[in-house]
Amino acid sequence: TMRESYSSENDSGFKCLNPQLRPIVIVGGHGQLGQLFQRMFELSGYQVRILGRDDWHRADEILHDAGMVVVSVPIHMTEAIIAKLGQLPEDCILTDLTSVKSGPLQAMLEVHSGPVVGLHPMFGPDIPSLAKQVVVYCDGRNPESYQWLLEQIQIWGASLNRISAIEHDQGMTLIQALRHFTSFVYGVHLAEEDPKIDQLMSLSSPIYRLELAMVGRLFAQDAQLYADIIMSAPQNLAMIKRFHQRFGEAIEMLELQDKAAFKQAFSQVEHWFGDYAQHFLVESQGLLRQANDSTRR
Ligand code: NAD
Repeated sequence: TMRESYSSENDSGFKCLNPQLRPIVIVGGHGQLGQLFQRMFELSGYQVRILGRDDWHRADEILHDAGMVVVSVPIHMTEAIIAKLGQLPEDCILTDLTSVKSGPLQAMLEVHSGPVVGLHPMFGPDIPSLAKQVVVYCDGRNPESYQWLLEQIQIWGASLNRISAIEHDQGMTLIQALRHFTSFVYGVHLAEEDPKIDQLMSLSSPIYRLELAMVGRLFAQDAQLYADIIMSAPQNLAMIKRFHQRFGEAIEMLELQDKAAFKQAFSQVEHWFGDYAQHFLVESQGLLRQANDSTRR
């Protein structure tokens, strides 16, 4: 299977693009994403140290010769922890894996005068390999000194997308905050309605099963992470309120049994999607075929 071939690829290790690099320190490296990056760096021949929650009394010893520091701590603590990294070697690369970018990037630029880059892996710790995954990055300072890191991530199989921290955070309002929040509310609604979940499953078409999986998988993960993501920026709340308002307007349409208005809105949205509407129909047919195959297995 795909999974096996990727893991045997990992066992044999990855090419090391910067063998001269002094140790990499992952702050919060015992956490989910930190462990994943520790494994990837070690498989690529780098020396990795962890600075965990209880290690700050020996932080100087851990950090004094660091070649790169990677911050991977809970979102709500990130900026405060970055502020404690004022004594890094001048040429040390300072980076983070935080799901929001503006605040942490600003904090890194303020505390450290050497190379800075913000990373956002667009995946969780449950992936078998980085193949086909996306890592978004935001340039901070001295990009020439961390090109090897970007290339190293590509050697792991991921593709890179460069964006400004502000544009990233705006995009995440829709891609993360609103999406996770609507999944959260849908989950709350299901739990309150309390249908028999096995009966729901037996009545489900593959598309509904997939939708239920998308919602249900949220609740197998860390509540703190999603609370932090959803509440990370005031623009997230503003976006969610606009969605709520449109939900209300759509309900009014139902109350008025206004099918003409429904059809008019429908065609507006169809127009907005343009060629993507047809494209998504075809793409989702492929996904559903795959989902069907894997649930039968
Ligand atoms: P996690 O809770 O699994 O790990 C955080 C780690 O930080 C824990 O080991 C914790 O003990 C440690 N920590 C807490 N306080 C600390 C302190 N004062 N000093 C040092 N370490 C401390 O969280 P995670 O899911 O690994 O997330 C880490 C980062 O990765 C977050 O910024 C998150 O936005 C980002 N991220 C996570 C995912 C995901 O799906 N998990 C995806 C993309 C990005």
